[in-house]
Amino acid sequence: MVFKMPQSYLSIEQAKEAGREGTVVDLRGWVYRTRGSNKLVFLVLRDSTGIIQCVGSKDDLGEEVFKRSKELFIESSVTLSGTVHKDERAPGGFELHLNRIEAVKAAEPFPITKDQSEEFLREKRHLWLRSRKMNAILKVRSTVTGAIHEFFRGRGYYEFTPPIFTPNACEGGSTLFEVKYYDDVIYLTQSWQLYAEAAIFSLERIYDVSPTFRAEKSKTSRHLSEFWMAEMEAAWMGYREAAKVAMDEVRFITERVLERNRADLELLEADPSRLERALSKEWPMITYTEALGLLRDRGGLEVEWGKDLRTIEEEKLMEHFDTPVVIIQYPKEVMAFYKPVEPDAEAPGPVARCFDMLAPEGYGEIVGGSERDTDMDSIKKALEKQGEKVENYDWYLDLRRYGSVPHSGYGLGVERLISWLCKLDNIKDAIPFPRTMTRTFP
Ligand code: ATP
Ligand code: MG
Repeated sequence: MVFKMPQSYLSIEQAKEAGREGTVVDLRGWVYRTRGSNKLVFLVLRDSTGIIQCVGSKDDLGEEVFKRSKELFIESSVTLSGTVHKDERAPGGFELHLNRIEAVKAAEPFPITKDQSEEFLREKRHLWLRSRKMNAILKVRSTVTGAIHEFFRGRGYYEFTPPIFTPNACEGGSTLFEVKYYDDVIYLTQSWQLYAEAAIFSLERIYDVSPTFRAEKSKTSRHLSEFWMAEMEAAWMGYREAAKVAMDEVRFITERVLERNRADLELLEADPSRLERALSKEWPMITYTEALGLLRDRGGLEVEWGKDLRTIEEEKLMEHFDTPVVIIQYPKEVMAFYKPVEPDAEAPGPVARCFDMLAPEGYGEIVGGSERDTDMDSIKKALEKQGEKVENYDWYLDLRRYGSVPHSGYGLGVERLISWLCKLDNIKDAIPFPRTMTRTFP
């Protein structure tokens, strides 16, 4: 057949709007499910907005079309028309009584059938994107990234785009991806931070949402090799204020998702009321030292002061909270070179002016941030201690030579946040085509 593109097609969502009942509508999409009897064909149609059950009788469709429509495999693309009926028994509460159905392209038997393993679905991710689950997650993802832009622009921040190829490490050499670069070697970015620190001397307050690469050798359900980080950097700002911005940002994004994606959250069985509950409360800010105290007194878990919190400790700690929690002042020793010492802290050892935000329900760290050291000598010392060549960072040290100011910034893991909002089992489902140590396909 020749495919014509009339203007009058409605989306499935529009077909279900009030006032359409009893009218004839034209729809287009893909066959989501079919079954039939001698006299009737039942077909569920899918488009980007949802699904609707359609029923056609041999009498209404005619012998020939009836026969062909019964033979359509799922995921065939079709156009059809029919009358909208309210029907409590139909999924979504509506049913379309068909008077026409045409295949745009009949599909081959679809490889994804019921009850397949998560690994198989990832192998077929190019097709699995069409599932109701992925459709809902991708819609939430679109709201999340849109809300990040909205949040920062609303506060007068500029969007600033960093390079992706970088000559320096930011988060330590062990997770750097090397790339052949002409006759040389270069790295994929681990964070925009060093470049953001250069840019604040021009723009003062900046943000971005961009791809980030880390060769994570441990296989966890919250690490990807390629992920998206939403970062901000602001001149004249301390780490506590930055932590406050991070809380406001996560709240703002959560509100937007509740406004726009309630149906998606429900489809994902990610009860929206848990997010509403989190929004209705204050989010605690505690120190690392206090966190160790909580772990000891309420969790019976003794952590030696000075050790970074591992996943099990974070999980144990978050059992006491149903909102995100900000933890400030981690031990200076375990922090990246650019985090300065907080002299006004009550702690057994030197701590940094830094913070992490942990999500409840076992989702762990979603934000990491800090003030940035402005003292040349202490940066040099910390770099040397991390085994970096100080001369490679000379351009970065220029930022301390020419009009340095106090400044802070943080990175929000977009997929980590989506995982919490959507209550996902694995971070791999928070991104369309996941990249991990063991997966680069499709
Ligand atoms: P983790 O300890 O969980 O590996 P990190 O301390 O290395 O995190 P940061 O360097 O602070 O993380 O990065 C900022 C944010 O980016 C983190 O809070 C997290 O939300 C996200 N993030 C970091 N690494 C990954 C990763 N491999 N995959 C997905 N998100 C990540
Ligand atoms: Mg990490």
